[in-house]
Amino acid sequence: MLEVSHLSKEYPSPGGALPILTDVSFKLSRGDAVAVMGPSGSGKSTLLYVLGALEPPTSGEVTLDGQNPFGLRAGELAAFRNSRVGFVFQDHCLLPQCSVIENVLTPTFVSKGGGEDAERRARTLLERVGLTGRLHHRPAELSGGEKQRVALARALVMKPLMLLCDEPTGNLDRDSAETVASLLLELHREQQTILVVVTHSPELAARFPTQFNLMGQRLQQA
Ligand code: ADP
Repeated sequence: MLEVSHLSKEYPSPGGALPILTDVSFKLSRGDAVAVMGPSGSGKSTLLYVLGALEPPTSGEVTLDGQNPFGLRAGELAAFRNSRVGFVFQDHCLLPQCSVIENVLTPTFVSKGGGEDAERRARTLLERVGLTGRLHHRPAELSGGEKQRVALARALVMKPLMLLCDEPTGNLDRDSAETVASLLLELHREQQTILVVVTHSPELAARFPTQFNLMGQRLQQA
């Protein structure tokens, strides 16, 4: 369960603290999927970074399965992110010098428990996203949609509780966006993650059972 309670986030600026999120509260359980929409600059990415423990809140609390990641020491926090949270960004962020299978395995290299059947999980995920024939390609040898499908497999290889996606289809043509969105939702259902997707795309948002709007620092259910 993800519990967000009275979360506020400010960034420091020369003119004083800049409020981005004010008093945001919601709860999501395994299997829940929400799309977050809102104007550019409204704080959607910031919300995602706080949920994923990449940015601390200014006040309020975020807990995942009862654990507050911001109370952890740096090493434990990194391990928490690696094992509990999967990220997919607008830009695939794949390592250019590594093959597809190596990219998907990257999160498992730094984790103690990641190695056991990691290769089997990576291969299964890559098969699931239709890339069995591309295991040894480098990212430069893939289409935009294929790169995002690798990024999705990498985000899920540690079997995270929560999957956070920032404009996952933002750089893709219509057909590739459709494929990536379908895979994202199917894999979320199969793995019963908590899925939060930030998007500008009304087509993508419409595929989610729950939609949130972020406006004027406040999050509201649409
Ligand atoms: P969105 O994803 O909705 O486009 P962001 O979360 O990226 O919005 O940004 C929200 C606001 O916070 C913007 O005005 C942006 O300039 C500001 N902002 C984002 N990151 C930082 C930062 N690290 N330091 C200061 N201000 C930031």
